[in-house]
Amino acid sequence: MNKMTIRDVDLKGKRVVMRVDFNVPIKEGVIKDDTRIRGALPTIQYVLEQGASLVLMSHLGRPSGKGYEADYSLKPVAEYLGKMLGKTVAFAPDCAQAGDAAAALQPGEVLMLENTRFYKEEQGKVKKTDDMTDEESTAKKAALKEKQTELARIFASYGDVFCNDAFGSAHRAHASTAVICKFMDVNVAGFLLEKEIEYLGNAVENPVRPFVAILGGAKVSDKLAVVRNLLTKVDTLIIGGGMAYTFLKAQGHEVGGSLCENDQLEYAAEMLKQAAERGVKFLLPVDNIAADKFDAEANTRIVGADIPAGWMGLDIGPETAKLYADAINGAKTVVWNGPMGCFEMPKFAEGTMAVCRAVSGIKAAGGISIIGGGDSVAAVNKSGLAAEMSHISTGGGASLEYLEGKELPGVAALSDR
Ligand code: AMP
Repeated sequence: MNKMTIRDVDLKGKRVVMRVDFNVPIKEGVIKDDTRIRGALPTIQYVLEQGASLVLMSHLGRPSGKGYEADYSLKPVAEYLGKMLGKTVAFAPDCAQAGDAAAALQPGEVLMLENTRFYKEEQGKVKKTDDMTDEESTAKKAALKEKQTELARIFASYGDVFCNDAFGSAHRAHASTAVICKFMDVNVAGFLLEKEIEYLGNAVENPVRPFVAILGGAKVSDKLAVVRNLLTKVDTLIIGGGMAYTFLKAQGHEVGGSLCENDQLEYAAEMLKQAAERGVKFLLPVDNIAADKFDAEANTRIVGADIPAGWMGLDIGPETAKLYADAINGAKTVVWNGPMGCFEMPKFAEGTMAVCRAVSGIKAAGGISIIGGGDSVAAVNKSGLAAEMSHISTGGGASLEYLEGKELPGVAALSDR
């Protein structure tokens, strides 16, 4: 990696300001899933072991940005982390007023800031309302950007070194993820972020071939740029899920009541043409599980590539599952983002599970398998095969932007080696 990591700095006696992703599900003060907290522990422990003190910051959920809201407080997370670390984690109830608490930290001590998104300038986003003129909106945006810069300057004043370990927020140019880097001399990646960049970066830029990408999920329009970019990189592109039907229709198939984005037909046809010109294998369903309604109890039947009127495709069929598994077997690099069907409903989960099983054989055969995106991660967890995958990305949106070939602001802002 060409960016500095936490291993590259002498941390003894330093104060590290670290952006983590503690955006965990919390209900009435109880943490329902601590995966993200556990994920940040190696970097946190390393920093403390090296004799540094630590200021942690994160967002949680989507508060209004107008100050404290109890439902989005990170206080329960600070307490939880304290128990995990076996030491007190001090808490700063206002993330922009924590200078004194940060300055008082001794080596080995930890301070956690309250939710950075209690300040709307953290994100710096202005929503243009109908009663706002263009000039007003531009002026508001500029004013908020200035406030964002100010907030980033305050965060930077809390320490000597900035460490970003929040891959899930790395595609956002927020005060605590990217803007802060302007005011710090040293900006480094934590272990989690480093691992994400190494896996995703190598897969996309230096894949060991054959390189197979599998895309699914509901909408083509969410993944336009991903398909376009991956077509220039992969040997085989496999498409399943709701997004497959727009491609099938572009090929002249009937799609019945399946999800189909008619305004993307031209794009789909263009992608199919590009794949043919580049010699990329572009696989689409040859059969489907069709349902008579969008319901877990719907009547179902197996149909070919054409979906009859009155039916909708909700999963890939058994022939397709076999075709896709054969294409995945033997790959040396596999990237998978998005389910093959409505896997949340058992009747439409088999296609996704079949792909899961096929992808789970890649690591054992000496290849690399990378799972990105919330729903595919949920499917892999459900399958019980998570341990068989080389890398499960912690950032859905961020991993998609990586696959689009975009530079992530939170990564770009880190210090070069
Ligand atoms: P995305 O957020 O775009 O990755 O889409 C994930 C969602 O797509 C999941 O909730 C799936 O249930 C849904 N999905 C997958 N296949 C289909 C399909 N054939 N029709 C409708 N929804 C689908």
